[in-house]
Amino acid sequence: MIVEVIVDVSAYPIDRPFDYIVPEELKDLVERGSRVHVPFGNRKVQGFITNIKEQTDIDTSKLKEVQSIIDVEPVVTEELLQLSKWMTNKTLCYEIDALQVMLPAALRATYKKNIKLINSNAVEEPFLALFGKKDIISYEVIEKAGYLHQMKKYLTQGSVQLETVIKQHAKAKTITKYKVIATKEYIQNQINTLAKNAVKQKELMEWLLIQVQDSFTMEELKETVNANNNVVKALIEKSILELEKEEVYREITTLEHHDTDQRFQLTEEQAVALEKINHAQNHKENTTFLLHGITGSGKTEIYLNAIENSILKGKQAIMLVPEISLTPQMTRRFKLRFGDEVAVMHSGLSIGEKYDEWRKIWRGEVKVVVGARSAIFAPFKDLGVIILDEEHESTYKQEDNPRYHARDVAIWRSEFHHCPVILGSATPSLESYARASKGVYSLLTLKARAKEQALPTVNVVDMRLELKNGNRSMFSVELADAIREKLDKKEQIVLFLNKRGFSSFVLCRDCGTVVECKNCDISLTYHRAGEQLKCHYCGHEEPVPTICPECASEHIRFFGTGTQKVEEEIARLVPFARVLRMDVDTTRTKGSHERILKQFGDGEADILLGTQMIAKGLDFPNITLVGVLNADTTLHLADFRAAEKTFQLMTQVSGRAGRHDKEGKVYIQTYTPEHYAIELSKAQLYEPFYHKEMLVRKQYEYPPFYYLTLVQITHENVMLASEYAKLATDWLRANLSDQSMVVGPTACAISKIQNRYRYQCLIKYKKEPILIEKLQQLIKIYRTEWMKKGIILSIDLDPSTIL
Ligand code: ADP
Ligand code: ZN
Ligand code: ZN
Repeated sequence: MIVEVIVDVSAYPIDRPFDYIVPEELKDLVERGSRVHVPFGNRKVQGFITNIKEQTDIDTSKLKEVQSIIDVEPVVTEELLQLSKWMTNKTLCYEIDALQVMLPAALRATYKKNIKLINSNAVEEPFLALFGKKDIISYEVIEKAGYLHQMKKYLTQGSVQLETVIKQHAKAKTITKYKVIATKEYIQNQINTLAKNAVKQKELMEWLLIQVQDSFTMEELKETVNANNNVVKALIEKSILELEKEEVYREITTLEHHDTDQRFQLTEEQAVALEKINHAQNHKENTTFLLHGITGSGKTEIYLNAIENSILKGKQAIMLVPEISLTPQMTRRFKLRFGDEVAVMHSGLSIGEKYDEWRKIWRGEVKVVVGARSAIFAPFKDLGVIILDEEHESTYKQEDNPRYHARDVAIWRSEFHHCPVILGSATPSLESYARASKGVYSLLTLKARAKEQALPTVNVVDMRLELKNGNRSMFSVELADAIREKLDKKEQIVLFLNKRGFSSFVLCRDCGTVVECKNCDISLTYHRAGEQLKCHYCGHEEPVPTICPECASEHIRFFGTGTQKVEEEIARLVPFARVLRMDVDTTRTKGSHERILKQFGDGEADILLGTQMIAKGLDFPNITLVGVLNADTTLHLADFRAAEKTFQLMTQVSGRAGRHDKEGKVYIQTYTPEHYAIELSKAQLYEPFYHKEMLVRKQYEYPPFYYLTLVQITHENVMLASEYAKLATDWLRANLSDQSMVVGPTACAISKIQNRYRYQCLIKYKKEPILIEKLQQLIKIYRTEWMKKGIILSIDLDPSTIL
């Protein structure tokens, strides 16, 4: 007996299975999808059995033997084996990477296996004797005794059970925090009795008085109030602060007693959509539905109902969300509806806990999984529906090998299981909407909000006028007034700071002009070194202008602000407001999102200030005002999706206001109020935006009119990086058909990462039948020749960003 094994050596030039002979004693044990240890070169490596056969073309005297078997039950199902083959081709990754990404991380860690006796009457001697008086023994005892095949028989019967104990590499991680343990009165008293020269202590104490949070990292204290170790120590001695260790991992969704599952009479639109989805489920049709519904239109309610229908049919469901820790309210709704039938795969779980959730799915103990991208690989055996909420989110695309898109995997699995996929969004990606328009996807539309609340009134504020009127602050007069008004009414406010990506751009504060490349209709990227503006699409370069090329104003400079600066400005504007900040700095610990959201939901703060993170999922009745401080920042990212991303973000953010009884107001501050992405997001006018943006994409030959493939080359030596980028580009030009355009090579927008210089070229095509084949040839050249020189080549088909 011979097995084909995909070995875990991803640096090897050839990506194909290797044949191994199965020794007699392992014959009953090998199965497709199980892992084994095999010799490779002079090492012992792990591998996956992908095929079992009796014959091979290779001289069997040269074949080596399988050393040992790791899984007595396969960890990869037949379906996922096929899927991994498809992914290898589709994303041009090593097959081993495709297989590994489907498994929980725990299976890559060290773990110990035990065998538990479940029904001793069904187990015969001499196997039974191994247990002696115990009912759990280690797997190795059985392996050493040579009884693996008996064990397998008993496993299948259920008379023994396999248990795994994960050895965590690290114990639950903790971080050090300083917790406020004194009352506000006590702190005030301490301030009054402070020595005159204790300025820093006074500063910190006064700052603590106005905080809502009650624990801080040293980093936060240093950055926000400029505190140092000595000052913090002094406050500890005064019993104001206390050192605490906070667990980084914690349970995310804890249900509260007053939570109950709400069921609604579906609206007409909801009923129509659900009808079609259920019809596809009942008739085993693998339709892909694009559920386009404005924010608050009741999409989640449809998901819940569709999943319920699956469960009734004895099937399972996958529910994907972009980033699970940001959607605690949504996760709660699923737990309320489906109770123990739901496995939640979130980043807050330890790898052992994640593995436990995965096993529940594998054994069929749960019917639904709610999770982020990788939950798409949940090893369910009979799927009834697969759902991607916020389908336009870029987190569905993995940015590392294998560069798969969860949407593509979902559609592949739906074909396998003959079940529908639901892609839901208020602002679908252009690609998906184009496919729906062509009838590739089936479009379902929800035009009204479920509770018939009006959409919030959106005001676009022209910040150029503010500046003309002498207002240099980040808050327009209108927004500032609205904030004060809502504070008086004791209603809640969300302020959104649109953080730029990696790159920054140069903007004229008088006329709103952003300096763009004259060849590419893409804003130029600011490079501090040499004060240069660069286009990373075509390589064009120019110095940073000192006056605006449009209006000759001197108020032209590079743009970008941080949340901390905004926080300071809020404190000046409305000193008594209680502000919660939610950004990368305040959400480093696991569970901190939920904590901040909960505090805000409980009314412990008046203003929630945050970045992209707060755009999603916030659903609180008391939020009546949303302010976007700088809508422009994503608009001028050097990326062809900039307008689309801005429209999506503005729509999402505005959707946070007035979701319940109270009427909502939104202010969008911008230097380019006339831009269609901003103008049209005002009334969530998706279709007009879609048509306008499609014209732009067509003109500049971007998706969805053309497909893109991004080829990047990096090296520590800038000369070598650019030389090989040119080699790759020339090779592609020579070998692809004339249906492809090969653009480049150019330096990447981020020209150096971790001391490696980055170059890229872009392939644009409508149809290129030989693309995959040619790229595989290029990869082979790279693996056999270029890799030795330290070059790293990466190929991204359908990149979500080209920065
Ligand atoms: P979306 O996912 O489209 O943003 P949700 O499903 O969260 O919308 O629904 C928005 C709000 O409307 C929620 O508070 C939800 O409980 C409520 N809702 C949903 N469907 C109905 C319905 N048929 N009748 C009344 N309220 C509903
Ligand atoms: Zn250019
Ligand atoms: Zn200008």
